[in-house]
Amino acid sequence: MHEVPNVLIIGAGGVGAATAHKAALNNGELGDVWLASRTPSRCAAVLDGIRRRSNMQSNFRLAHAEVDAKDVDAVARLIDRARARIVINVASPHVNLAVLDACLKTGARYIDTALYEKEGEIGMPPPWYANYEWRLKPRFEAAGVTAILGAGFDPGAVNAFCAWAGKHHLATIESIDILDVNAGSHGRYFATNFDAETNLREIAEDVIYFDDGEWRTVSCHTRSRTFDFPKLGEFTVYSMGHDEIHSLAVHTGARHVEFWMAFSDQYLKVFEVLHRLGLLGHEPVNVEGQAVVPLKLLKALLPDPASLAPDYRGEVCIGALVGGRDRDGRPRRLFVYSLCDHARCYEEVGAQAISYTTAVPAVTAALLIARGDWDVGRMVNVEELDPDPFMALMPELGIDWHVREEAA
Ligand code: NDP
Repeated sequence: MHEVPNVLIIGAGGVGAATAHKAALNNGELGDVWLASRTPSRCAAVLDGIRRRSNMQSNFRLAHAEVDAKDVDAVARLIDRARARIVINVASPHVNLAVLDACLKTGARYIDTALYEKEGEIGMPPPWYANYEWRLKPRFEAAGVTAILGAGFDPGAVNAFCAWAGKHHLATIESIDILDVNAGSHGRYFATNFDAETNLREIAEDVIYFDDGEWRTVSCHTRSRTFDFPKLGEFTVYSMGHDEIHSLAVHTGARHVEFWMAFSDQYLKVFEVLHRLGLLGHEPVNVEGQAVVPLKLLKALLPDPASLAPDYRGEVCIGALVGGRDRDGRPRRLFVYSLCDHARCYEEVGAQAISYTTAVPAVTAALLIARGDWDVGRMVNVEELDPDPFMALMPELGIDWHVREEAA
């Protein structure tokens, strides 16, 4: 694809806003930027913010629209109206299948940052992508339409980090540990950094990880280790179920793939209380004749993730610790990582670092589709693509990456 594609972004939360901002800044290659959700006033406010913050003289269209992304025909109509050849889906993960379908109908290229979740379903068998998304592979292949799954930071950039380590340093990849610490502080009592429903469910669920070539399951927060993060120092990290494990275990040949996240003691304390009281439940309970889903009630009470941005201070470090053997058979371990500062992200696009680190890889992927490098005409996860153009371009969009050689 070499013509200017025009981009439709679905979802105007923290991630959608940062994505729209970065796409607008790259309008020379991406063309018009459309932002859509079920609440058009919010989309309009985001676009006003972009115009103000970037002092943007638009010789391209920065437009918003109302859409329920679960409605395939409505999404397809909007794709046609926007003349969008690329759709970036950063709405709730419940809408993925409908948006994928709309892309198949219209031929628009598809990018998302999170795995599909069926409303109310928990405990999907591994590998998670095989339950829904990968079943669509033959249809995307037949139509010659590109769909890039999980192109945020984790999943997303970390998958490219693994591919890069494999391409340039390791003949075989034996183990992958994704490590994620948010050492920032937003000053609130308790909040989630992105969609509360998705975030709290992924933390509360039983942990699935891949070890010795087999899927294993343990209760949440039962496996922990310490890790010395570059610049930020040592943190206790906890094993957690996460999307990228489920594609990396299939595509890299690694015998061990696990995701680890650091939580503060305060976070764990509040989480434990919410969990024990049943406030993380997704089954409706009867409240004076009304069916209420506790997790949805909690989401409504918690701060909007996008609202955390102005007061956020500190940095995030996310990386892939990739172990294996080099071409001479020597064992090696590389930590490929990025650091990102909350306040700098806010200054640049008005978002906190979690939204920013999701948006930058998604827009990098869009640019690589527009340039043809990643327009592969089929459905893929990020590690299946050539990592080199991504690793070269992501720093230009605002996120640098580094490598630390670890003792093997
Ligand atoms: P928010 O909850 O803040 O925003 C979600 C947005 O999606 C809202 O604008 C909402 O607007 C819109 N939306 C929800 N349902 C629909 C629908 N049916 N139709 C149209 N729009 C809809 O979430 P975030 O911005 O924080 O996160 C967005 C996505 O990014 C999530 O899927 C999350 O899992 C993913 N993510 C990925 C990361 C990664 O590194 N890979 C990291 C962080 C997040 P409205 O309700 O008005 O329609």
